[in-house]
Amino acid sequence: MRLSRYFLPVLKETPADAQIVSHRLMLRAGMIKQASAGIYSWLPLGYKVLRRVEQIVHEEQQRAGHIPVLMPTLQSADLWRESGRYDAYGEELLRIRDRHDRDMLYGPTNEEMITDIFRSYVSSYRDLPLTLYHIQWKFRDERRPRFGVMRGREFLMKDGYNFDLTKEDALHAYNRHLVSYLRTYERMGLQAIPMRADGGPIGGDYTHEFLVLAETGESEVFYDSAVTDLTFGDREIDYDSVDQCQAILEEFTSRYARTDETHDAAIFDRDVPSERQKSARGIEVGQIFYFGTKYSDAMGAAVQGPDGKQVNVHMGSHGIGVSRLVGALIEANHDDKGIIWPEGVTPFHAGIVNLRQGDAATDAACDELYKGLAAKGLEALYDDRDERAGAKFATMDLIGLPWRVTVGPRGLEKGVVELTSRRTGESEEMSVTAAIDRLA
Ligand code: ATP
Ligand code: MG
Ligand code: MG
Ligand code: MG
Repeated sequence: MRLSRYFLPVLKETPADAQIVSHRLMLRAGMIKQASAGIYSWLPLGYKVLRRVEQIVHEEQQRAGHIPVLMPTLQSADLWRESGRYDAYGEELLRIRDRHDRDMLYGPTNEEMITDIFRSYVSSYRDLPLTLYHIQWKFRDERRPRFGVMRGREFLMKDGYNFDLTKEDALHAYNRHLVSYLRTYERMGLQAIPMRADGGPIGGDYTHEFLVLAETGESEVFYDSAVTDLTFGDREIDYDSVDQCQAILEEFTSRYARTDETHDAAIFDRDVPSERQKSARGIEVGQIFYFGTKYSDAMGAAVQGPDGKQVNVHMGSHGIGVSRLVGALIEANHDDKGIIWPEGVTPFHAGIVNLRQGDAATDAACDELYKGLAAKGLEALYDDRDERAGAKFATMDLIGLPWRVTVGPRGLEKGVVELTSRRTGESEEMSVTAAIDRLA
């Protein structure tokens, strides 16, 4: 993409009403625009990152054997009356009436709708196990929408639902989700720690939240510092292996790590040496639940078991905050100049800065770079505007592409361009061809 043809409405001023760094940077980098309280338009740069996050979530869900669907945002209130949540959910539920006076709602989550789909088609244990998920906009009329996309009212969530014959099978689905989430966050360059949590309005007491440690996080967390040493890496996973998934759950959850809702000071003191006891703030980027037959009982979702008897299915639901993750990624990856995208989610692979736009040699070298990267499948953002070098550098630093290639007449006389890492600030001179090879 050539910057002269792109739409990147960068702000010079720091927006006064944005309280946390990710919100400020998303506004300044022209990633989002508030439409109304807690509701945002995603501008081209923000939309690109959102799509990359979404893509990783899709790939990892499907790798775990989960099947994508797409359910609507608007739901009939009748389904929610069946589960009892139409009244129980409270003020966060946006209730809507259509022209025929039918009660509708903008879905904050989809347990009812997916259970309805399931009961309409599945009647035998032979069709189990089954996990369906979608990535769809949700609406929760949050009391205090704030921090930009971190606590929006409209937000993008991946929510998946498992249906199993027995509790053991459903717990395997739970473990499979935990494993797939570890992989998902790590691919984004993010450490998200599974912590014991509380069920809330989804219900169920078998649940973990995934938290990214950050001073601006809204959750208070307590953990054994040893949990921050764990990494998933690129191990081979057989998602059908009950033992392997269980072992990974144990590896990642046996040490103390809890949110304030479930924190127990006595157990913390008993189990964790004092020098490893940490309390901090965290951003909830996902949560997994096993809630048994709560919805299948209420809504009559049963299958015929191997013995011919009807059994209400065991279920769980599993969410990832896709739009919140974009904010969380910035909270975890920035400096005073701007964002520093991890390679896994960066909107462009590299930026090209032409120091003398209109000069035949620098223009030609930039074109060669731009096309050479494209030929390797790498999308660059080429700053071909007639701007001062300082302004171009400031824009690149703000939007945080992992690599910048600077092309100027002085370097080209020696046959080199400069490759700079956004994260370390280190630069190296090399030929155009070498720069393309290095980035590929
Ligand atoms: P929170 O405690 O932050 O209100 P939650 O526990 O109510 O979140 P869940 O029902 O667990 O949320 O939804 C799954 C995921 O959706 C959360 O882990 C979070 O990442 C994301 N999410 C929830 N509410 C919002 C919101 N208002 N804005 C953006 N993302 C959200
Ligand atoms: Mg909430
Ligand atoms: Mg929560
Ligand atoms: Mg939650």
